[in-house]
Amino acid sequence: MYVSKDEELRIEIIQLHHDVLVVRHGGRWKMTELVTRNYWWPGVMRDVGKYVEGCDMCQRMKNRMEEVAGKLKLSKIPEKPWTHLTIEFTTKLLLVAGKDTILVVCNRLSKMTYFVATTKGILVEGLARLFRNNGSCMGYQRV
Ligand SMILES: [Zn+2]
Repeated sequence: MYVSKDEELRIEIIQLHHDVLVVRHGGRWKMTELVTRNYWWPGVMRDVGKYVEGCDMCQRMKNRMEEVAGKLKLSKIPEKPWTHLTIEFTTKLLLVAGKDTILVVCNRLSKMTYFVATTKGILVEGLARLFRNNGSCMGYQRV
């Protein structure tokens, strides 16, 4: 429903949505989403934003409306070495023999770490090749 240029009416609409229990002090985006389900006028987002900025409780609740992150869980401890690895790249190194990056492969069980010199632009195939060519050095067998 288009709301004509009647400031009191627009504020009343915002106020009604602001005080609905489910979104009470829900912040700018939730309020705008709720108001624009049934009403619209030029600058509705701006007006809702102004209203929310003027509400002390909305400002206090600002970051609390997001879902609480889940609890951290410990990773399962591997039973055999080299079955679970972590890999990362150390980049932006000086170019030596055409290599400027180090692939760091770490065995999660023993923490034994293996380093492979490579280049920054390595693609998935290149990474697979590095594993294939260096697998026996890292202590795991190709299946
Ligand atoms: Zn509020």
